[in-house]
Amino acid sequence: MDEKKLNIKLKIWRQSGPNTVGSFVDYNVSISPDASFLEMLDELNNSLEKNNQDPIVFESDCREGICGTCGMVINGEPHGPLRKIATCQLHMRNFKDGQTIWVEPFRAKAFPVIKDLAVDRSAFDKIIQVGGYISVNTGGVPDANSIPISKEIASEAFDSAACIGCGACVAACKNGSAMLFVSAKVTQFALLPQGQPERQKRVEAMVAKMDEFGFGSCSNTYACEAECPKGISVVNIAKLNHEYRLAKIKSKNVEV
Ligand code: SF4
Repeated sequence: MDEKKLNIKLKIWRQSGPNTVGSFVDYNVSISPDASFLEMLDELNNSLEKNNQDPIVFESDCREGICGTCGMVINGEPHGPLRKIATCQLHMRNFKDGQTIWVEPFRAKAFPVIKDLAVDRSAFDKIIQVGGYISVNTGGVPDANSIPISKEIASEAFDSAACIGCGACVAACKNGSAMLFVSAKVTQFALLPQGQPERQKRVEAMVAKMDEFGFGSCSNTYACEAECPKGISVVNIAKLNHEYRLAKIKSKNVEV
């Protein structure tokens, strides 16, 4: 039996480089409802290449929602219309036959467009480099359970560690803030004994680097949490603010 295909009109942002002016270009695709959004773009690119046209540049890697590489704004929402999934987990069955879909890159001052839908998110790497690590003394392997961590704390730290660094929170925020991303990383380590040696300098360094790259301040709209594919809570931002204040007080040698 012939599979019923969806006829979709696409308006995709095309931009040949960081310093050129981009615009939306129209495409029509006929696609299986079971295709993922990225497979739909793959098919479109195959037909563009067959016709000697420049394929659309977009990023992807694991295609199972765990690496944070894919990311685009679909009909005005980072990662598209569904909650708690990355772009690679979105399927065409979530759209209607004949629907028009607008596709554009994550837009933020700190994420300049490289080409088409690909943006430079290396600012996140730089933020991680200044604080997203722990120091461990060399020596014998510690006994299992020699640092007991309660289930509650372990679960809380794990929830924060679920951040995949996709950048959707930045794209969702009208201020282009990276507070949700940075707060998830800071909170993850602040909760655990292993994160204590760098606790103070980590939060100061990561916030300073975030500011250096031009990410905006928190808009308090919770748009970041709403669009986050991993459901990272804005409670992490409250914890980041607490960690930052604590670090500043300690670095000024004030009694807490
Ligand atoms: S907090 Fe959520 S939206 Fe922001 S980078 Fe992490 S996973 Fe992506």
